[in-house]
Amino acid sequence: MQRLLDGYHRFREDTWPQQRARFEELAAQGQRPRTMIIACSDSRVDPQMIFSAGPGELFIVRNVANLVPPYMPDAAFHGTSAAVEFAVRVLQVRDLVVMGHALCGGIRALREGVPPEAGDFIAGWINIAARARLAGLSCDTPEAAQEACEHEAVRISIANLMTFPWVAEAVAGGRLALHGAHFGVATGRLVLMDREGRFLPA
Ligand SMILES: [Zn+2]
Repeated sequence: MQRLLDGYHRFREDTWPQQRARFEELAAQGQRPRTMIIACSDSRVDPQMIFSAGPGELFIVRNVANLVPPYMPDAAFHGTSAAVEFAVRVLQVRDLVVMGHALCGGIRALREGVPPEAGDFIAGWINIAARARLAGLSCDTPEAAQEACEHEAVRISIANLMTFPWVAEAVAGGRLALHGAHFGVATGRLVLMDREGRFLPA
């Protein structure tokens, strides 16, 4: 906790004076981010850092393995779907990026099994991308299989986004664009998914 407080004090001394006017403007006028990012909770994959973004620019939801479930408007607790709904229907973001990443523990759990001490929620959640496992079967190395599964999970999340009727309508109307991306933790490089679902350097 002390490390957090030290960081907070540096924020107050260094960052806040520089960004104060921007925060005050955002407080007075409300947020109007143009972009939503769905990223992994992994501590190495911070969208605000990767995209050099400031306050008010990115509406972000992070979860295990950056997954989006299919549209299921039932009584379950759909945190990610709620964030997507707010971003698309209320904030009316123009771009929605699903950003996977290398060395994803959630995807590794999908391929190799969930850690035995974490048996309550993870298996059910990552099952959203169960068929991503198939993408790794034809790979020559475990590393290639891991990456193929990470890419496929992004494709699945984007396909699931299109099952939300108001996402599909906004995309069809040209008001919203969906994007897939993948961040290399060891390389710092981002690759983007093209229309054919291939991942190419940004
Ligand atoms: Zn991850």
